[in-house]
Amino acid sequence: VNEIISGVYQLPDGFVNLYLILEPDGLTLIDTGQTKSGERVVRAAFETLKRPPTDLKRILVTHADPDHTGGAAALKNWSAAQVMVGKGDAGALARGEAARPPQNALVRVLIKLMVPKPAPLQADVLLEDGMELPVLGGLRVVATPGHTGGHVAFYSPRDRVLFAGDALRSANSTLVWSRGPFTLDFDEGMRSVRRMEVLEPKIVLCGHGTPVKGERIAFPK
Ligand SMILES: [Zn+2]
Repeated sequence: VNEIISGVYQLPDGFVNLYLILEPDGLTLIDTGQTKSGERVVRAAFETLKRPPTDLKRILVTHADPDHTGGAAALKNWSAAQVMVGKGDAGALARGEAARPPQNALVRVLIKLMVPKPAPLQADVLLEDGMELPVLGGLRVVATPGHTGGHVAFYSPRDRVLFAGDALRSANSTLVWSRGPFTLDFDEGMRSVRRMEVLEPKIVLCGHGTPVKGERIAFPK
């Protein structure tokens, strides 16, 4: 576990990041990693932090892709935490599917062969833009469609920390928004980038890549 700011930990599961927030009333997990390894990573972190599974209160899911939802069902059973996901991606989570097929036939076949399907999971809470969760002094749900239709990011104005999921990616300490086989709608995603930029975070934590920090973080244009 790598502590980014006091009480906020980055848990890498291979190429994808999970984030764990530790507060006196319990723990909040953001994203659940890949099937099998995601669960292992979280359980190991709880052992390191000497916390029982029942301390996990919330599992926030930025979007329903298998590298973010893979551990969700197992961790829900392990902890009895409440699972929360953007309204638009809740159906895919419930079916154990990705929120949209890859926009490229070859990638579609490779994913089908290589990525295990997450177990279907009915979310407890459907998140909508502007909702506020009792985490980090009031964690705001920011609708950030583009990568998937129901993608959400989470922002704490108190700590100026943005959990961007896959609405942004970090590469060499720079934020990136790019077209690719997993981008549902590039233009809509760029509008979501603008919505996150105006929040003026000083720490951006992405689903992929290292943390990006700074008083004036540059967002992709
Ligand atoms: Zn991802």
